[in-house]
Amino acid sequence: MALESTPNHTQTVAGWAAHDSSGKIVPYIFKRRENGVNDVSIKVMYCGICHTDLHFINNDWGITMYPVVPGHEITGVITKVGSNVKNFKIGDRVGVGCLAASCLECEFCKNSQENYCDQIQFTYNGIFWDGSITYGGYSDMLVADHRYVVRVPDNLPMDAAAPLLCAGVTVFTPMKDCQLLESPGKKVGVVGLGGLGHVAVKMAKAFGHHVTVISTSPSKENEAKHRLDADSFIVSTNDEQMQRGKRTLDVILDTVSAQHSLGPILEMLKVNGTLAVVGAPDRPIELPSFPLIFGKRSVKGSMTGSMKETQEMMDVCGKHNITCDVELIKPDQINQALDRLARNDVRYRFVIDITGNSKL
Ligand code: NAP
Ligand code: ZN
Repeated sequence: MALESTPNHTQTVAGWAAHDSSGKIVPYIFKRRENGVNDVSIKVMYCGICHTDLHFINNDWGITMYPVVPGHEITGVITKVGSNVKNFKIGDRVGVGCLAASCLECEFCKNSQENYCDQIQFTYNGIFWDGSITYGGYSDMLVADHRYVVRVPDNLPMDAAAPLLCAGVTVFTPMKDCQLLESPGKKVGVVGLGGLGHVAVKMAKAFGHHVTVISTSPSKENEAKHRLDADSFIVSTNDEQMQRGKRTLDVILDTVSAQHSLGPILEMLKVNGTLAVVGAPDRPIELPSFPLIFGKRSVKGSMTGSMKETQEMMDVCGKHNITCDVELIKPDQINQALDRLARNDVRYRFVIDITGNSKL
């Protein structure tokens, strides 16, 4: 691991944290490091509430280090730059996603795939080089290594762009891997119409594909077709609709946050089709072999994106004017928002207005 000297943790920051798996978020005052030579300081304006935050707050994956300050869909404005930082200046509109540090030396770091570095450290619930636990964007200020910061295109609003930093890049990278950026006219399926799913629909449509949403929520059909422009909507609990959908899709993105079987989803792929799993349920998902082998189908995973891909995704969203459909909340509404997210009641991403000044 590259040893980088990190300055003292002397800056007092106001944030919001969960202290145990009861999941309740309360105001929390903590310290951040001084702005180091490679760092930028960011006044946080908006932070999306990703389902991953809920997994961590509830300790679904058994790896939460409390107190946890969640948040990895952060937009804000730079207030300080370190002496080694040449590509950002004070006042720049920037975003921070899931990544806080990586070793910078392994084959993945050297090839702009640092999201697969085996020493990757995340924006929250990670351990930084100096041994300190990282705290995320449910806070009014962030110190970030400039190598893990991207620019927000001028035409994108900071609130509706915030969820792109995780939800956006997480669905963008498997689409890119499956050549969906350069070859329009494919049949693309999106399973789960939540934070990740709704951006996936918008991106796939912008890239010129025929998009089918596969959902457990019949109530989302109208919006999916008319607001998000999906071409087709299948209710996954409706056997007849699932039967009709068999062997129709080239690529499917599975964004589901809860345990489920991949069998019926695989059946919807054409022969040779690819299922990219990005949802991260706490228990194993069922992977029956018959639909896999009878259709020579592939299942692959994907974990957020590299910084290069994150910037590329932001620029592509700027070009196509892709933003997220958000419900803006104040920090004192975080607990209600988390309850609603757990009940699958959000259209389609909660975003915390950290400064309380939505006009910024
Ligand atoms: P979300 O907004 O809650 O959306 C998840 C969607 O899954 C729901 O809207 C719902 O869609 C569907 N769903 C929920 N419960 C279900 C069930 N029991 N059976 C079938 N479908 C169900 O969550 P998100 O923020 O998009 O995140 C989704 C998952 O991706 C989470 O597990 C998160 O941790 C993970 N994630 C992974 C990465 C990565 O790097 N791979 C990055 C970010 C997030 P319908 O109502 O349409 O069925
Ligand atoms: Zn996330």
